[in-house]
Amino acid sequence: MLYELLCIMFLLLALTLFSINAAIRAKAALFRAQAQLAHVTRVTSLDELAASIVHEVNQPLTAIISSGEACRNWLDRPVPELGEARQSLERIITCANRASEIIRRFRGLSRPCDPLRRKESLNDIVQETLDLVQFELAQHKVFPKIDLATFTEQVNADRVQLQQVIINLIINACHAMDTIEVGKRTLGVRTWVKNNEAVLEVTDQGPGLSADILPQVFTPFFTTKENGLGLGLSICRSIIDFHNGRIWATAATGQGSAFLFALPVLATRESS
Ligand code: ADP
Repeated sequence: MLYELLCIMFLLLALTLFSINAAIRAKAALFRAQAQLAHVTRVTSLDELAASIVHEVNQPLTAIISSGEACRNWLDRPVPELGEARQSLERIITCANRASEIIRRFRGLSRPCDPLRRKESLNDIVQETLDLVQFELAQHKVFPKIDLATFTEQVNADRVQLQQVIINLIINACHAMDTIEVGKRTLGVRTWVKNNEAVLEVTDQGPGLSADILPQVFTPFFTTKENGLGLGLSICRSIIDFHNGRIWATAATGQGSAFLFALPVLATRESS
C-alpha cells in the first residue's frame, strides 16, 4: 500500500514538474516571439526613419568637411594659426563623435536583441528618441512642443524597446495630423512623475478617436489606414506590459488624441 502511495505521489510530482516545465517553455517561446515581432515592426518603422538617419549623419559630415578645410587654411598661412587650427580640429572631433553616436543608435534600433532592462532616465530616452525623429517631423511639417519635467526618479527599462514605443506614438501622431492645416500640426511630448509612476504623454491635433474606435486601438491588426498593419499599438502595449506599466489613449473627436504610458519608478534605494 505504501509502495503504491509512493508511486502515485511520484507520478503526481513528475506530472507537476512536467507541466511547470511546459509552462515555462511556452512563456519563453511567447516572449521570444514577441521580441521578434517587436523587431519586425522596429525595422518596418526604420524604413521611415532611414531618411531621417541619412539627414542626421549628413549634417556632421558637412561640418567635418568645412572644419577640415578651415584647418588646412589656418595651417597654410605664412605664419600658421595653430590656435585656430586646433579649434577646427576640436570641431571635427565633436562632429565625428556626433555622427558615430547617430550610427550607434541606428544600429541599436535595427539589431534583433533580447530585451535588456536597466536603470534608465525616461527623459533621456525621450530626448534621444526625439533626435531620431527630427526628419520625420520636418517631413510631416509637424511642430514639436516638448515639456519634460525635471525629476531624478529612474525606471527599469529596455531603452530600445521604449524608444520603439515612443517612435510608434510619434509617427502615428504625425500621420494623424497629415490632413489638418500645416500651421496647426503641433505634437506635444510631456513627461512627469506622479504617484510613483513616470508618465509620458504624446498629443496631436489630428481628428482624434471616436468612441467606437477607442477601445480597439490596442487590439492586434486593428487599423483604419489603407496600408496599415494594425500592429504598432498592440506591440506598444506588450512592451509596456513587459515593463509592468500601463498604456492608454484619450481622445475627443475633432480635438486630437493623447496617448500615454506610465511606468513604475524605482524606489530611491534601488536606483542609487
Ligand atoms: P497602424 O498605424 O498600422 O494602423 P497602429 O496599431 O499603430 O497600427 O494603430 C491602430 C489604429 O489606431 C490606427 O489605424 C488608427 O485608427 C488609430 N490611431 C493610432 N494613433 C492614432 C492617433 N494619433 N490619432 C488617431 N488615430 C490613431
